[in-house]
Amino acid sequence: MSILPITIYGDRILREKTKPVTDVDIQTIKEIKAMFATMRNANGIGLAANQVGLNKSIFVIDVSPVEGYEKIKPIVMINPKIILTSDDKIQMEEGCLSVPNLRAEVIRPKEIKVKYQDTDMNELTLEADELFARVIQHEYDHLLGVFFTDKISEEQKKQVKKELNRIKSRKIDVDYPIADKD
Ligand code: ZN
Repeated sequence: MSILPITIYGDRILREKTKPVTDVDIQTIKEIKAMFATMRNANGIGLAANQVGLNKSIFVIDVSPVEGYEKIKPIVMINPKIILTSDDKIQMEEGCLSVPNLRAEVIRPKEIKVKYQDTDMNELTLEADELFARVIQHEYDHLLGVFFTDKISEEQKKQVKKELNRIKSRKIDVDYPIADKD
């Protein structure tokens, strides 16, 4: 299974809104498989297509390695849209394979409802909460060109600014393949 290099904070593709998928062909299926392999190789629980250099509205999630979430099956969401968010918000620490070794507390809705298409282009909806909802929101943001570090407090932003610049210039230590700077 092919492992793809992961794009890094500062790369243009991660700031672009991804394009809708109109057809899931053999190539797309291959890409989705490679996204799962790439995510697992990097010990991630979610990965968006632009994180592997693909301008497509697709993300994959597998939260089953997390304690308490073993029963949640791996999922691929094509053309996702979050259609409902709870007023109830929670704070959770987040990290990102494209922002290596940086973690920060982010406040987001606790529960969400998301509409998406599966690989047969069937339209489905899913309700999620807690960590699962968190990962979906994080990945959905990637498809819109948004990072979790955009959503932290101004105070926190000041604290991570230097680190983000270091990441941008690829002064990072990671144990998974990363893409060349664009
Ligand atoms: Zn991320």
